[in-house]
Amino acid sequence: MSLQQLVKNVVVIRPEADGAPDGERLDIGITDGKFVRVESQIPAEEAETVIDGRGLLAFPGVVDAHQHWGLYNPLADDAETESRAGAQGGVTTALTYMRTGRYYLNRSGPYAEFLPVVLESAGGRSYIDYGFHLAPMMRQHIEEIPSLIEDFGVTSFKIFMFYGGHGLHGRSADQDQFLMLPAGERYDLAHFEFVMRGIQEAREKLTDLAPHVSLSLHCETAEIMSAYTEMVERDGTLSGLAAYSASRPPHSEALAVTVASFLADETGLPNINLLHLSSRKALAAAMRMASTFPHVDFRREVTIGHLLADVETAHGIGGKVNPPLRSREDVEALWSYLLDGAVDWVVSDHACCKDEDKFGDDRDDVFAARSGFGGAEYLLPGLISEGRRRGLSYQRIAQLTSWNPARRFGLTGKGAIAPGYDADFCLVDPMATWTVRAEDSFSAQDYSPFEGFELTARVTDTWVRGQQVLDRGNIVGSPQGRYVSRPQGR
Ligand SMILES: [Zn+2]
Repeated sequence: MSLQQLVKNVVVIRPEADGAPDGERLDIGITDGKFVRVESQIPAEEAETVIDGRGLLAFPGVVDAHQHWGLYNPLADDAETESRAGAQGGVTTALTYMRTGRYYLNRSGPYAEFLPVVLESAGGRSYIDYGFHLAPMMRQHIEEIPSLIEDFGVTSFKIFMFYGGHGLHGRSADQDQFLMLPAGERYDLAHFEFVMRGIQEAREKLTDLAPHVSLSLHCETAEIMSAYTEMVERDGTLSGLAAYSASRPPHSEALAVTVASFLADETGLPNINLLHLSSRKALAAAMRMASTFPHVDFRREVTIGHLLADVETAHGIGGKVNPPLRSREDVEALWSYLLDGAVDWVVSDHACCKDEDKFGDDRDDVFAARSGFGGAEYLLPGLISEGRRRGLSYQRIAQLTSWNPARRFGLTGKGAIAPGYDADFCLVDPMATWTVRAEDSFSAQDYSPFEGFELTARVTDTWVRGQQVLDRGNIVGSPQGRYVSRPQGR
């Protein structure tokens, strides 16, 4: 017996350059939580356990590079329920954003004190592996960057460009308190510049780790959003998601992309991730910046929400998110950029916001609602359903959901079904037609902006490091997910 587990009767999707666009009939041998052989016709006698893949597709486990555990619910709760929702959609690693200030842990202070609380809260509760991106919110956090990389394995950082002037939900009476900054500090463009300088200094000091260290930016411009929010509310013609999109117009995104790119060049920080680009103008600006600053290694992200839903088709104002869901024209633009190869990865931006927290006293007032929703469970099925219709290959889908984010974010042992990699994978039935119902999701969120959407692919089974966590649609076993210190294997 050379193998502990052997998966037979599957079509393996390999994202690497030599993979076939629509997969290959291969058997998968697993030992000690890692893939050890991926070959055709491995004899069953060589394994302790043989798993029948039922002729389904085997995708590398989804690396969902943008989630928000603990934003609206206690982190310990989200780590459990939202990791189940992830497993339900084939997600095997979640990279989740974390910061100090209101929401999350509702506290401030140095990350040396904050992060151990985060790790303790999530520990032992998740069904999938996870890591954290951190946002340096105050000067002290910038000084902590080398230690966050070296001592905590956090290699990715974030700037929320609109926070200093606009808050989280766009009508915020508690602006002063929101970020819990020390007296005299501001969360503004100068701070962003010094975050970039701090990350670049760390990269120059830690040269071995530098390729894995990057900065992500949420690109929206506070001043434009504040002015447009006031105009849209005063005018009163638009309501719901269309009003919210108009209150945070696409050019506010495009301008922030341009400013962020200028600062990246100015500070010499080459690894820049432009998060959840939602509009034609944002993508156009991002492409313009890539040709203006060819020495900056930009990565461009879009979310499954912005690819699947527009302001008309989303199921009500539960679809409020930052940046907003857009018009159909913008959705089509995102797809054409994606099909042209301009998008590096697709994420869920999963933020579980329960019904009781989501809506204001007037449930129809989009400006009173909170931002964000869950959807990790629909990321891979949604991208396959809509992407196949538009000619996207399975291989490309595996690159967008697993290989590319794993390479960027220091998950060196994840992202492929290949010898030496963690045995993270899922089975997908590409012929299963089903209708999204929030009540069928394992998330604690009790509504979905995708309610009623028809999908044509379904994740049936998920394994994390060789341990099955989803079995024909049901969660099995106890939470085995681990915190991933990055880069892996250091
Ligand atoms: Zn987000």
